[in-house]
Amino acid sequence: MIGDSKYHSLDPSKCIGCTHCMKSCPTEAIRVVNGLAVIDHERCVYCGQCHRACPTHAFYVEQDDLAMIRSFKYRVILFPSIMIGQFPGKYSEDQIYDGLKKVGFTHIYEVEQPMQVMIDSINEVLADKETPKPAISIYCPAIVRLIQGRYPSLTENLILRKAPHNLAAHFAIEQLRLEGALREEIGLFYATPCIAKIAAVKSPVGESESIVDGIVNMNQLYNEVMKVISDHEVDDHSVQRKNLSAEGINWSLTRGESCHFGSRSIAIDGIHNAVRFLERLENDQVKGIDFIEMRACDQSCAGGILLTGNRFMTVERLERRAKRYPSAKEIHQENNLEKAQELKRKLILDPIMPKPHFAFGKDRVKAMEKMDKAQRIVCFLPGIDCGACGAPNCHALAEDMVNNKAKMSDCIFLQQKWVDEGRIHARKAFLNIQKKWGADRFKADCNKRGRRNEGF
Ligand code: SF4
Ligand code: SF4
Repeated sequence: MIGDSKYHSLDPSKCIGCTHCMKSCPTEAIRVVNGLAVIDHERCVYCGQCHRACPTHAFYVEQDDLAMIRSFKYRVILFPSIMIGQFPGKYSEDQIYDGLKKVGFTHIYEVEQPMQVMIDSINEVLADKETPKPAISIYCPAIVRLIQGRYPSLTENLILRKAPHNLAAHFAIEQLRLEGALREEIGLFYATPCIAKIAAVKSPVGESESIVDGIVNMNQLYNEVMKVISDHEVDDHSVQRKNLSAEGINWSLTRGESCHFGSRSIAIDGIHNAVRFLERLENDQVKGIDFIEMRACDQSCAGGILLTGNRFMTVERLERRAKRYPSAKEIHQENNLEKAQELKRKLILDPIMPKPHFAFGKDRVKAMEKMDKAQRIVCFLPGIDCGACGAPNCHALAEDMVNNKAKMSDCIFLQQKWVDEGRIHARKAFLNIQKKWGADRFKADCNKRGRRNEGF
C-alpha cells in the first residue's frame, strides 16, 4: 500500500527547516511545520530526493538488525552488482566476496544472474500484441509508486515482470535445494541501494508477499565488509559468479535495460525528468516508443542514496568490470539452464493497481468543489512559490487551505499587505510567523544552524 509504512524518517534535532527537501520533493509530500520538515507518507514514493537535498543530513533510513541473519543455517546475501563498484579498486571481487563471508553470509549472489531469463521474459511481454505501448519497466519501485499515485492511467503500461532480486532469490533457492537445503533453513537477505527497494521488499506491489526474508542497507554492509576485508590473496569464489554476465553487471545502470529491447526504447533517469516525461506520456504527446526504462536516481542505481561511492566513478568501474564477463546469451547456451522456463514463470507479477492520490478526497463532487476553491484562492496568492508559508508552492498552500491544514495569513506577503491595510496588527503578524518558524529563527546568532548555505 502506498505510504503504509515509514521506511525513512527525520531527526528533528538536525532539521533546520531550510525548505530544501520540501522544494525538491517531486510529489509535494513535505511541509515545514513549526520550523521542522514533516513527511506525508501517503504521498511519498521513497525516491530519496529529500535525503539528497538536505544540507544537514537530517533524514535517515530505517534498517533491520544484521544479527537476524544468524537465525538461518543458509545465509544468502543478494546484492546488485552496483555494490562491487563501491569498493576501492585495490580490492578484487574475491576479496569482497571473502569479506561478505566473514560478515556471516554462507552464500553470495549478485542479483543480476541468470539475466537472459529476464531479457527473454520481457521480450515475450513486448512481443504480445495485447501489451499497451510504451511498456514501462517496473525495475525502479519509486517509479512504480509514482505512476500508481500520480499517473494512475499509466499503471496498465507497467510490465508485469518482477525485478532481478526476485530472479536471483528463486535461482538461489533452486541451487541450495540441490545441496539438500530446506526452504525454511534458507535466509535470503537483500542489500538495498535505496529506500524504494526497502519499500518494495517490505510492502511488495503486484505480489502478496516478498520472497526475501530481510533487508540490509548497502552502506551498512559496505562498512561491515570494510572492517574485515583482507589485503592478502583469498580463496577463489568465482563459482558463485558463474552465471554473471556483462548484461547483468550493467543492468542497474542507465540504459542497462533499454539497450536490449530494440531501437524504439528509451532510458530516463532522475525523478524530475521522469515526472516531466510521464506528464507528456499521460497527455498523449509521446509517439512511437515501445519500451521505457525509468529510474528515480541520476545515473540510475549508481546514484542510490545508500551507496557510499561517487556515482560517476561507480559507473566507470562497473562498465570496466562488465567487459571482463561473457554475454548473458553465451552463459545461457553453455549452461542449458533446465529450470529457465520455471524461473520465467516465477517472474510473472499480479496486475498492479492504480492508487491515485486524492488531494481533495475520494468524493468526486466534493473534490471538484474543493479544486475550484483552491483555484480561486491561488488568484489571491502572489504566485512566486517562495516556500515561506511552509508549503512548496502557492498552489500547494491553496490545496492545504481547502483541506483545513493552512490559512490565508500563512502567506507572508498577504500578511504584510493586511498589516499595511490595517486589517491585522503588526504584532499578531509577527507572532504568526514565529509560530510557523520558531522563536529562535529570528534571534541574531552567528552560530545558529542554517546561518550559511550548508552543504551547497
Ligand atoms: S522520498 Fe521523495 S517523495 Fe518521499 S518525501 Fe522525500 S522527496 Fe518526497
Ligand atoms: S534508481 Fe535504483 S537506487 Fe534509485 S530509487 Fe530506483 S531502484 Fe532505487
